[in-house]
Amino acid sequence: MNREDFKMLNDNQLIYFDNGATTLKPNYVVNSIVEYYNVYCANAHRGDYHNSMIVDQKYEGVREKIKNFINANDKSEIVFTSGTTDSLNRIAFGYFKHYLKPGDEILLTESEHASDVLPWFILAKDLNLTINYIPLDENNEVTITNVQKSITDKTKVICIAYMTNVIGDIRPMRDICELAHKNNILVVGDAAQSLSHIKTDVKRDDIDFIAGSAHKMYGPTGAGFLYGKFELLNKMEPINYGGGMNAMYLSDGYVELREVPTRFEAGTQNIAGIIGMGAAVDYLNNIGLNNIVKYEHELREYLIKRLKELENIIIYNENNISSIVAFNIKNIFSQDVAVYLDKHNICIRSGNHCAKTLNKVFNENNTCRISLSFYNTKEEIDKLIEVLKNINNIWNEIL
Ligand code: PMP
Repeated sequence: MNREDFKMLNDNQLIYFDNGATTLKPNYVVNSIVEYYNVYCANAHRGDYHNSMIVDQKYEGVREKIKNFINANDKSEIVFTSGTTDSLNRIAFGYFKHYLKPGDEILLTESEHASDVLPWFILAKDLNLTINYIPLDENNEVTITNVQKSITDKTKVICIAYMTNVIGDIRPMRDICELAHKNNILVVGDAAQSLSHIKTDVKRDDIDFIAGSAHKMYGPTGAGFLYGKFELLNKMEPINYGGGMNAMYLSDGYVELREVPTRFEAGTQNIAGIIGMGAAVDYLNNIGLNNIVKYEHELREYLIKRLKELENIIIYNENNISSIVAFNIKNIFSQDVAVYLDKHNICIRSGNHCAKTLNKVFNENNTCRISLSFYNTKEEIDKLIEVLKNINNIWNEIL
């Protein structure tokens, strides 16, 4: 679908299957960034002249677009950040650092990305907290029963991805939030992988915080957002201080912060990136997430079916419905497979995918990962299979 919108796909014979790392960017998004720099470049929230006001409108307009995209109550619940990692750190150190008490427990899983884990490790050391892991079922997925079993009266926060980046399982977030709230637990959802593949609805899920990156949803790198329920953001502390976020300050150290969410956006923001993120949301809305979900699902089924034709394949997540497929070719190191495929202009990801505790789950440190997008095709999958069928040539080709 929509391949003509992507210059990189049209200029090269590239087969890009690494959309979980970052997606390619449609011309519409790239043009929106070029237009900002070439036509109305100015800082945001600082000037009283025409271009500056255009920037203010566009900048705040993106907040509204994200608010609608995830169905938040109000645009003040959207804070611009540099991406998911930044958002998760701000949530952990801006909110939970002031909310958690020694002995409190944090629930994660062993299939999370490093960005969902490491901020909590640091916080746990600083505040004397305990980290526990929700056990995964036989498909390496989270079940509500296992969440229930993992909750104790000390559990105060659950931080997990909506969709993980290796197993690609989609978590029952609504049920998890319902259960968590009954037990006085807050839920942080990492939406990095899910935003452009499944509908995110923070109101339906009643989730407390989410984190997202523009670059995994056809937008630019270096831009993202965090969502927090207004009453929680109102209690969150900024982790950056400076221009734009204060209402006033005095030489004796007195500081008054501006309102939420402006108080969390200190200094000049990534305006071009934020405008590009807004264009990406428009672009996705235009195609329609429902169409994307349907098409990617069909593509995934086809990919699994064709991969299973290979004798020497191990597929780790055959049973879920996401756009991610993790596999290995028996007796060949995943990175060698990726280098071999690159010789045929096919980009996949290999390694541990920043989910370094997953080896306990898979019993395998490194995997190959194909992460699909709506611009991938069955013909590309056919080409992949043809190349993988000749993998016996690998050592002639990559050494
Ligand atoms: N969480 C998940 C599940 C991810 O896949 C990623 C990116 N690989 C991140 C968090 C971090 O996102 P970013 O690098 O955009 O901050």
